[in-house]
Parts: sequence; C-alpha cells; structure tokens
Amino acid sequence: MSRYTGPVCRLCRREGERLYLKGARCYSPKCPVDRRPYPPGQHGQMQSRRKVQDYGLQLREKQKARRIYGVLETQFRHYFSEADRSKGVTGEELLRLLERRLDNVVYRLGFAASRKEARQLVTHRHFAVNGRTVNVPSYLIRAGDTISVREGHRDEPPIVAALQQARGRRTPPWLEFDPDQLQGKVQWLPNRDEIDTDIREQLIVEFYSR
Ligand code: SF4
Repeated sequence: MSRYTGPVCRLCRREGERLYLKGARCYSPKCPVDRRPYPPGQHGQMQSRRKVQDYGLQLREKQKARRIYGVLETQFRHYFSEADRSKGVTGEELLRLLERRLDNVVYRLGFAASRKEARQLVTHRHFAVNGRTVNVPSYLIRAGDTISVREGHRDEPPIVAALQQARGRRTPPWLEFDPDQLQGKVQWLPNRDEIDTDIREQLIVEFYSR
C-alpha cells in the first residue's frame, strides 16, 4: 500500500485551506494557501471558479479528513465501518477514532510539529503507552492511558524543537500534559466540541451512504 510522498502543500491548496501538515511553516505567512489561494496545477485558477455539486463537496470533505490525519483510503473506510457499527453518532464516532490514533495524540500533546512527524517518531520507537513501547502510529489509545517519551529519547532534536514550538499551542481538554515528566494522560475520549478540526463529518457520512 503506497503513501502519498509528493509535496504536501498541494494537498492544502487542493482543499482550499490550511491542513497543518508541515509544522512551523503552516503558522507563518509563507504558507502557500495564503500566497496562492487556488487549486494547484495548470488549470487551478479556472477550477476555483467552478460550481461544486453535492457529490464533489462530500468527496472533498472525505479527502480533507484523510489528509489531515494522514490515513489511507482503505484504513479510512475501515474507521467509517467501525463508527457506523457503534451506538453513537456515526460522524462523531469517526472523528473520535481518528483522534484516538497514537500519532494524533503525540501531535496534540506537542511532541511533534505535525502528524506526519509524529508518525515517524512513533515508528522510530520514541514513545511508550502505559510504560510499554508502541511503534504503531494507528494504535488506538483509551481513556486513562499514559503516553510518555521513553527514557533515553528525551533529547531527540525533533521532540525538543516541537515542544518549544508547541508552547503557545493549547493542549485539548481531554489530554493532560506533564512537561516535567514529558508525558500526557488521556483523561477521557474527546467529545465533538473538543475536536478542533474543521471537518463537516456529516458530509463524509453522506459520501459513504450513497
Ligand atoms: Fe503547506 Fe502547512 Fe500551508 Fe498546508 S498549512 S499549505 S502544509 S505550509
């Protein structure tokens, strides 16, 4: 299964908004979404004037969510099926599943500048969940779990840089961050209003319900 390895800023320009895929640059005026606010490619400026139909809106919202969380199509569909089988509201359950991914939690806690970087740091065995090393970015955390930087990995340059950069960023209320121990605790699983990702999940539900 292949992962997208092209220029990530194209993905944001395709969606017409910042998806925060690149770390520090995303928060600077250099972000191409501001400098070139139209889709990428030769006909990008013409496309931005085109009327988008319902299907197009649903598709774009699904793609946007996939890109924000860095999830491949098959896995995303799997998350949707699981959300659909749950007792809760499907769209909310879907977002909750995406938020529970270990790479997302590492990013949310400020240990990485982007989810992409978080994925790499997790794969490189820098983190432990409840004291046990976990190197699977899609690992789903549960309420009460503790995520920590492993002993001997605390001075890793990307982690130190990300923590400095994240100082001004708010830790979501469902996570508790301990800067001295370099660890975070999942106090509860997030409600919809605690997930500050700009996704209209109902459109994704409509996309898969066609
Ligand atoms: Fe690139 Fe980040 Fe801007 Fe997206 S938000 S276009 S990844 S700089």
